[in-house]
Amino acid sequence: MQRYDFIMAGGGIAGLSLAYHLIHSPLRDCSILILDRDAKDRNDRTLCFWTEQPTLFDSVVYRSWDRLQFVGEDFQRLIDLGSYRYRMIRGLDFYRFVRKALADCANVDFVQGKIDRIEDGDEYATVAVGAERYAGTWVFDSLFSLTHFAPDSARCHYLQQHFRGWEIETADAVFDPGIATLFDFRTPQKGEMRFLYVLPFTGQRALVELVSGSPDHGDEALSDYVERTLGITSYRIVAKEGGVNPLTDYVFPRRTGRHVMTVGAQGGRVKPSSGYAFLRIQQDSAAIVQSMLTTGHPFDVPADPWWFRQCDSLMLEVMQQYGGQMQLIFTAMFRNNPIRRIFRFLDETASLPEKLAMMVSVPLWPFVRALSRLNRWRRV
Ligand SMILES: Cc1cc2nc3c(=O)[nH]c(=O)nc-3n(C[C@H](O)[C@H](O)[C@H](O)COP(=O)(O)OP(=O)(O)OC[C@H]3O[C@@H](n4cnc5c(N)ncnc54)[C@H](O)[C@@H]3O)c2cc1C
Repeated sequence: MQRYDFIMAGGGIAGLSLAYHLIHSPLRDCSILILDRDAKDRNDRTLCFWTEQPTLFDSVVYRSWDRLQFVGEDFQRLIDLGSYRYRMIRGLDFYRFVRKALADCANVDFVQGKIDRIEDGDEYATVAVGAERYAGTWVFDSLFSLTHFAPDSARCHYLQQHFRGWEIETADAVFDPGIATLFDFRTPQKGEMRFLYVLPFTGQRALVELVSGSPDHGDEALSDYVERTLGITSYRIVAKEGGVNPLTDYVFPRRTGRHVMTVGAQGGRVKPSSGYAFLRIQQDSAAIVQSMLTTGHPFDVPADPWWFRQCDSLMLEVMQQYGGQMQLIFTAMFRNNPIRRIFRFLDETASLPEKLAMMVSVPLWPFVRALSRLNRWRRV
């Protein structure tokens, strides 16, 4: 049985990010194994995030915007991002870049195969792939499965965020490549939160993506939006993407064995109320490396702030009960707050005055009702 210092059980966004952080740290010479069933050679997702800071992955940023657009039913706003940038990385570029950097290190191995189980032990944990077993002093588990995830619905919320995207090419230059649309609610809400975003790459090429709470009618809603709302009649679809993100306030355990730690979606790194995960995964990777350096184990990472966990639960309750009203809440949020405050709130770095200002900027009734429902629910 081969033994490694670190095993990434799952080499997707979280496993690869952590390995990349490790090879750029004083732990760079430790042995690392990346295990994944996929070759990671498909562009399976588009990763967007806002930031004022440089990141480790700036060299693979595909597009970056300094202006965003919000479109509600009766309100539209063009937002200058100031010192922030909204960045986009193609999943495939991320996989290629990180895997190449790791493959250049003699101490990093890759194995492609389906992981059957992870077992904790006294001195190390083992990962089984068919008849093969690999031992790791530290095993990082990112094997989140939507099929198997079924948290107790009496104790937490669990919604899904479905993505359906088309990259389209138009006959004429109809897009402004300087402005990305973050939210456009001009699509039937069907009792849930539904919106589109548009990431223009050139005047003639853009990714148009529908985000919804259920998988139905994705293509119909997309063609309706492109043709009727945007008024684009001559276009062709050059690529498609899709996927599902869990939105849950289930508290994912981080330490699942003496030698096993969860990361990525499996470690609760998807922001419950927004679905953004990429930068949270980078922060978590940095914290794990720091914990290794200071304590000799990976588990000493900051817990999610209590106050923001409550806000996420409240938001999920509102989304669950009043999904069709979310556009009103988002419209009020974008009408009444500067973008910096919104970003800082979502990044969980907002100060107390910023938190209070955000809270009073949106219609209060859904939150008051959701709060009383949540309190009742928590007492049972
Ligand atoms: C379409 C889409 C768009 C998104 N857009 C954004 C965005 O714009 N911004 C943002 O911040 N987040 C976004 N997200 C969310 C983000 O991509 C995920 O939260 C992130 O990928 C989670 O990382 P992860 O490593 O936990 O999971 P993954 O990246 O899914 O990695 C898990 C890995 O485990 C492997 N695996 C699973 N089971 C096994 C097994 N049994 N054996 C071997 N390997 C296994 C899989 O092949 C996969 O490579 C999006 C998600 C989707 C689906």
